[in-house]
Amino acid sequence: MLYADIILPLAQPAYTFAVPEGTEVVPGCAVAVQFGPRKIYTGIVRRVHDLRPSARNVKPILRVLYDRPLLTGRQMEFWEWVASYYMCSPGEVMRCALPALMKPSADTEEEFADEEFRPRTECYVAPAPALRDGERLHEALESLERRAPKQYEALLELVSADEELRTAAGEVPRRLLRADYAVLRALGRKGLVVETERERSAEAGCRAAFRLPELTAAQAEALGELRRQFRTKSAALLHGVTGSGKTEIYIHLIAEMLSRGDDVLLLVPEIALTAQLVGRMERIFGSRVTSYHSKLTPRRRTEIFLRLSRSEGGEFVVGARSALFLPLRRLRLVVVDEEHDASYKQNDPAPRYNARDCAVALARMLGGHALLGSATPSLETWMNARTGKYGRAVLSERYGEARPPRILVSDTLRAARRGERHSHFNKLLLDKMEETLRAGGQTMLFQNRRGFSPYVECTECGWTARCPHCNVTLTYHRRGERLVCHYCGHTAPVPAKCPSCRVTDVVPRGFGTEKIEEEIAALFPEARVARLDRDSVTSERAFGAVVADFEARRTDILVGTQMITKGFDFGGVALVGILNADNLVNSPDFRAAERAFQLMTQVAGRAGRRAAGGEVVIQTSDPGHPVIRQVAEGDYEGMALAQLAEREAFFYPPYARLIALTLRHRDPELLRRGAAALAAALRGRFGRRVLGPMPPPVDRIRGEYLAGLLLKIESGASAARARELLRSELEAFSKSPEYRTLTVVCDVDPQ
Ligand code: ADP
Ligand code: ZN
Ligand code: ZN
Repeated sequence: MLYADIILPLAQPAYTFAVPEGTEVVPGCAVAVQFGPRKIYTGIVRRVHDLRPSARNVKPILRVLYDRPLLTGRQMEFWEWVASYYMCSPGEVMRCALPALMKPSADTEEEFADEEFRPRTECYVAPAPALRDGERLHEALESLERRAPKQYEALLELVSADEELRTAAGEVPRRLLRADYAVLRALGRKGLVVETERERSAEAGCRAAFRLPELTAAQAEALGELRRQFRTKSAALLHGVTGSGKTEIYIHLIAEMLSRGDDVLLLVPEIALTAQLVGRMERIFGSRVTSYHSKLTPRRRTEIFLRLSRSEGGEFVVGARSALFLPLRRLRLVVVDEEHDASYKQNDPAPRYNARDCAVALARMLGGHALLGSATPSLETWMNARTGKYGRAVLSERYGEARPPRILVSDTLRAARRGERHSHFNKLLLDKMEETLRAGGQTMLFQNRRGFSPYVECTECGWTARCPHCNVTLTYHRRGERLVCHYCGHTAPVPAKCPSCRVTDVVPRGFGTEKIEEEIAALFPEARVARLDRDSVTSERAFGAVVADFEARRTDILVGTQMITKGFDFGGVALVGILNADNLVNSPDFRAAERAFQLMTQVAGRAGRRAAGGEVVIQTSDPGHPVIRQVAEGDYEGMALAQLAEREAFFYPPYARLIALTLRHRDPELLRRGAAALAAALRGRFGRRVLGPMPPPVDRIRGEYLAGLLLKIESGASAARARELLRSELEAFSKSPEYRTLTVVCDVDPQ
């Protein structure tokens, strides 16, 4: 008798089922199984063996789903790695890895069958084989032209359709033709076209040869260096200033893989921010490019997943972090663009993985390569490149005529003393904006979002609106005049009278990009102003519209948050203003300085991408701050060395590995005792490596109180051993009668 260990989409270990006679399964197969009293789930086979489990009645697998395994053995290994490294169950990895429609669960077999995903079919149209003869084609067209002009047009459209639109067999997807379906059917009846209905494929146009950009000498050298490094190392850093042509280098490596029939994955921080990049890739790789991200419909994501699981290779996916889990069977290269970006880390729910680190692990497992690109690498990656664990190539000059922007630091306190400060702007910045506007250039203004969510306050008694479920202030949204909790989503109307003193009205406080946009409009009435942040653009389309307007220079001044910092390549930006650098450098996080440097350098990098003479104005009350100086001088290495010295002194990554534990409970007293007990138990194992308990910055969310513990492990020590010890302690803790009801969440390598 054979048995299969099956991963279910639950925070549970794998369970063993019997493999019925005549059923064939291998690791990576999707199956339907019954679990619990009634429910039917989709599961993934983890292992097949002949060890009878001790449980008395072992249920059989109901049936195998899809006509072949969804995942390869290697991908299953990767799931295991993620589960083990990030301390979660393989079921949680499954939940994250598979698109929603691929893991239906139902109460009955009939319902399950209804829920099961069926790929959409598509109609393909081709001219009848006889028409390959030019003479016959001419005849057919001639006779149609007189008698059936619509059919004539349809046939003409089909035979003259762009090579790009065709599959290898010369068919064109019907939906891409202008012709009426009835007209095509009529042509079919005459035997002039052939229509085939089958599963949708993306192979149309895949034969086009890639036209690659010619590399400059410096770029060619960097590419050569990467190739050399990849002979012995599975990961390498491409450290190149913004605009130096990192993307061009990716393109060359990608083309090389694709023409060998291998798959490539290009990870980008947030797909909504990278329409430009996808467009650029499509211009070179045509319909080979598949983009995969959370904004796609569930159906589309599922179709992509299924198609890739059957592909023979040569696939190129541009995706957000979850694209790491796509079943690319011949994956040999993972490029992680802007590798330092914090959005590669999934904070919630489990697996709390960092896609950049996973990419490195995955590449190693596959015997392929991970390329990490950045103008401002994370200190972890930079350190790995320095010690030779990763390879490294450097691009220190911008491409073409573009020069690094001139960075001016403007002292806000001094400006205020001299009466040269108007609201949020120093005179210097306003003068520069005026100049830029007159010269027909574009300006980008950056306002950090953090710490500047607008809120409402009573002018009389100081009352502010707070969330009843979380220990935070509610954020004021002008649209709809509502107060919203950014932690739990609780909303409330803005009260007409202060609920506390009942004397006065409450007023909005704090300033965000919206306020700045208003002020700019008042200061420069003739300028065309737009805004880009999470509140102003709620859809991908709205986002695209703002970006397109700015790109086409229909906007003079763009005000925005972090959203404007990433990956944009706008030619016309002559001036960039960073309105308040103070809250960037002064945040209490141990990564604050690194982050501030990265963010400001990215923002500054938007200036003067094409033309010479871009300028950046950084407003700060502390112009002598080391990080501000390092940004102004473009001194990444100075920043990195200074920060590494601090990290070493205070024992933080990359010198230590961190595991953050969060405990939650509705009863604050029980939580306090539980956190103390867990801390004591962990100290028994890890000694002084345990910090806490301490309250996190927001210590109540959705009615539950929170307590934090931090584990700091020497990076030289065995991380696997530490996780093992931690796992056994947590298991004991979760079984103790007193603390069973506490929730404990592990975050490995928290950001
Ligand atoms: P990065 O990814 O390092 O920010 P990009 O690859 O986006 O840099 O290059 C910046 C700009 O310079 C882009 O507009 C790009 O098309 C152009 N560019 C870079 N290298 C070349 C090249 N070898 N040939 C033509 N254009 C290039
Ligand atoms: Zn809340
Ligand atoms: Zn009041």
